[in-house]
Amino acid sequence: MQLTDATHDPALKSWVESANAPGHDFPIQNLPYARLRRARSDEPWRVGVAIGDFVLDLKLASRQCPWGDGVGELLAPLADGDLATFMSLGPAAWKLTREALSLALAAESEQAPFLELCLVPPQELEYSLPCRIGNYTDFYAGIHHARTVGALFRPDNPLLPNYPWVPIGYHGRASSVVVEGGSVRRPCGQTKGDAAEPVFGPSRRLDYELELGLWVGAANELGERVDMIAAESRLFGLTPLNDWSARDIQAWEYQPLGPFLSKSFATSVSPWIVSFDALAPFRRPFTRPPGQPQPLPYLDSERNREAGAFDIHVEAWLQTARMKAARQPAVRLSHANVLEAAWWTPAQLVAHHTSNGCNLQIGDLLGTGTLSGAQAGQGGSLLELSGGGRRPVQLPGGETRTFLEDGDTLTLKAWCEAPGAVRVGFGSVSGTIAPAA
Ligand code: MN
Repeated sequence: MQLTDATHDPALKSWVESANAPGHDFPIQNLPYARLRRARSDEPWRVGVAIGDFVLDLKLASRQCPWGDGVGELLAPLADGDLATFMSLGPAAWKLTREALSLALAAESEQAPFLELCLVPPQELEYSLPCRIGNYTDFYAGIHHARTVGALFRPDNPLLPNYPWVPIGYHGRASSVVVEGGSVRRPCGQTKGDAAEPVFGPSRRLDYELELGLWVGAANELGERVDMIAAESRLFGLTPLNDWSARDIQAWEYQPLGPFLSKSFATSVSPWIVSFDALAPFRRPFTRPPGQPQPLPYLDSERNREAGAFDIHVEAWLQTARMKAARQPAVRLSHANVLEAAWWTPAQLVAHHTSNGCNLQIGDLLGTGTLSGAQAGQGGSLLELSGGGRRPVQLPGGETRTFLEDGDTLTLKAWCEAPGAVRVGFGSVSGTIAPAA
């Protein structure tokens, strides 16, 4: 099975020099999309492509540059800032657009003199959500997270019997998904401490969850199941995703129907969507450890077994208010690899979500669940890193954290690296905790 093409060639260079720097998030092999415009302007939104230290404005590029046959029609919805319409063109169109952008940005492209005028420094831009999110579902595919969190509540029986068999998830709140930057207000809610009765007030156990978001790029009809052959082609791309969680609210409310207000106050995603096409060099076989059950047939395919999993590094970084004041850099709290952390592949999450006939829609967002490594200290949340708040995490400068404090800035990053491929990064998503209102 040929997975990669000329757009992944590690020898490919761009005329945008900064894109050729080793280790850059945005080499020509990546080409992620974001919806953006000039900061503090009332310009219409448009879609841009990240290339090195710049963003190619596709509204300008579609007007000011000659393009090959048919490319203008592909770029039109992107120029209009309408990623949903672009997604509706389907995977073949996504691939053609990637090829056209790769050729245009490649060293010695004849389009370079036109496109040079369409590059914008990212400092001059502001971002929006890529599209209207109809529905947001958060899965629980991080098995080490599930085991560690389960052990905090059920030391003898950390993983429930359904875990190895069924992709667990819950319906999240789409309206409170926010893009990049800015502040996340500490939520208030009902919590139950040691006192006889619960109280209402600001959460004191505010946490992050290190996840990836999967953007649905193709719809299925109500009642139509999407099988494993088609499942992954329904996904447009990925972003880092922070499922902010108020653990004290969660602990009191979650039984019997699962998380509700402990999660729905905010979910942050990064502005850049990395396409599944860009991740071709980082596909890996899907496997199960010995002794673990194989997926049921509706969650199994030859392609998934051969190349349905992804080698993606994910990290969470913290910079406290005191660290900022002392000009101390952020410290890494969490790191994991999706290959090790995730029990299910993206295709399996789509096949499972639609297995009852549930219709996914363009622009729906699926969270993977918290991605934690197998080792102690690789938890993808403070709940895990602090042992449920019992073991404070030591920070440089003498501070400690069990959970997030006001003024803390939490940043998620993700990237892929593999021999014979150019590193591809996802950018980052940050949020700073603001005091409860
Ligand atoms: Mn989550």
